[in-house]
Amino acid sequence: MKIAIIGAGYGGMAAAYDLRKAGHDITIFESANFAGGLASGFKEPGWKWSVEKFYHHWFQSDSEMLGLIRELGLEDKVIFPRPLTVMFHKQKWYPFDSILNALLFPGLGFGINKIRFGFVGLFLRITNNWRALEKVTAEEWMIKYAGRQVYEQMWKPLLVGKFGSFYKDVNMAWLWARMHARTTRLGTFEGGFQNFADLFAEQLRNQGVNIKLGASVKSIKSDSGMVSVDGESFDKVLVTSSPNLMAKLCPDLPESYLKGLLELKSMGAVVMTLSLKQQLSKEGYYWFNVPKEEGYPFLALVEHTNYVSKDNFGGEHIIYAGDYLELGHEYFSMSDEELLARFIPAFQKFNPEFKREWINKIWVHKTHYAQPVPLVNHSRNIPAIQTPIAGLYFASMSQVYPWDRGTNFAVEIGRKAARMMMD
Ligand SMILES: Cc1cc2nc3c(=O)[nH]c(=O)nc-3n(C[C@H](O)[C@H](O)[C@H](O)COP(=O)(O)OP(=O)(O)OC[C@H]3O[C@@H](n4cnc5c(N)ncnc54)[C@H](O)[C@@H]3O)c2cc1C
Repeated sequence: MKIAIIGAGYGGMAAAYDLRKAGHDITIFESANFAGGLASGFKEPGWKWSVEKFYHHWFQSDSEMLGLIRELGLEDKVIFPRPLTVMFHKQKWYPFDSILNALLFPGLGFGINKIRFGFVGLFLRITNNWRALEKVTAEEWMIKYAGRQVYEQMWKPLLVGKFGSFYKDVNMAWLWARMHARTTRLGTFEGGFQNFADLFAEQLRNQGVNIKLGASVKSIKSDSGMVSVDGESFDKVLVTSSPNLMAKLCPDLPESYLKGLLELKSMGAVVMTLSLKQQLSKEGYYWFNVPKEEGYPFLALVEHTNYVSKDNFGGEHIIYAGDYLELGHEYFSMSDEELLARFIPAFQKFNPEFKREWINKIWVHKTHYAQPVPLVNHSRNIPAIQTPIAGLYFASMSQVYPWDRGTNFAVEIGRKAARMMMD
């Protein structure tokens, strides 16, 4: 079959890998000038490694991704350093990266709340019944089973940070998926995620996949039994863009499918990366779960070079400050300098000695599609991978539910779509 794939993110590349192995003729159209999609990175002269535009890592439980990396023969390049993740309580930061540290965290006291937190956590790791959990909101479920204090201290800040004004509407299966499928060890690829994307794309090219970079697809149409991509006919087409873009690319889809795509809610993200002359966290902390209600202008502060060595970046210290935001939020239209002016006072809270002169350079990356919002009974709203147009398939972050979006699930859904296309 002659097959087109729109998007050289991990979903598109994973699908291409299996389809090409089965002998099909594959063309990937990618609007950017690089592979890797949302998990791509950038590199300055003098850096040995790239830095992800949006902070990324893998969990040890990311079996689809780690399995694919093994198939590609690249497993010796995956590393799992041991970074320190911290939580805020009464103006102090506490390690929160193991069950023991979670139990020692003073934010919950040492009585009944800690026991409820522990039991709820254990239950969510054991149960597989996410279908029951998607019927209620995370807020309702947590208040009922973990108690209001545990909810307010531990889960509400996460929900508010990730989902803004939608936080009360997110279903409990989302929290289940995070607790069920994630480990505390965090992994990355030597050279950065972009290095992996480049090596993956190179292997695909060597196998005969045609990857067209800088090729932005404008229109997809049903064309007498074939599917046409900007006028070129293919037996089958897989689109891996956001649901909104899919609806724009293919307005001929039936009304009900289009409506389903357009009704899906998602959050965008704005992430600033800074190169500093000095280390920000003197304690060597990697990931700060920032309490936005305390007035911080971002949700996460991540000191990347407390995770991987600064020697990979010419001795520069790399930090990220990022947030998930509703479309239309002012951060999307602010200039990089305006955003920096907003963030600088917050950096001083992590290290009172921080000065503007420490900054070598900043980069700001923005995306309108960063995090799907799963509402109650969300499984009913997931668009089918096989669209009502014969030969046209769609696989995006919004369809990996009940799992939370991630490169691991992009690989899983890409390979699933490839199987469906071959059936
Ligand atoms: C802030 C943030 C943090 C994250 N953290 C992590 C993490 O720690 N770990 C993790 O595993 N995942 C993380 N993710 C999620 C991860 O990046 C995604 O789940 C994954 O990259 C999605 O892959 P994809 O192939 O489905 O889509 P994408 O990566 O979005 O790929 C789609 C591709 O399609 C291309 N495209 C779109 N429209 C067109 C068109 N018209 N023509 C041609 N090409 C087009 C795009 O340029 C893009 O390259 C994070 C995401 C964000 C935003």
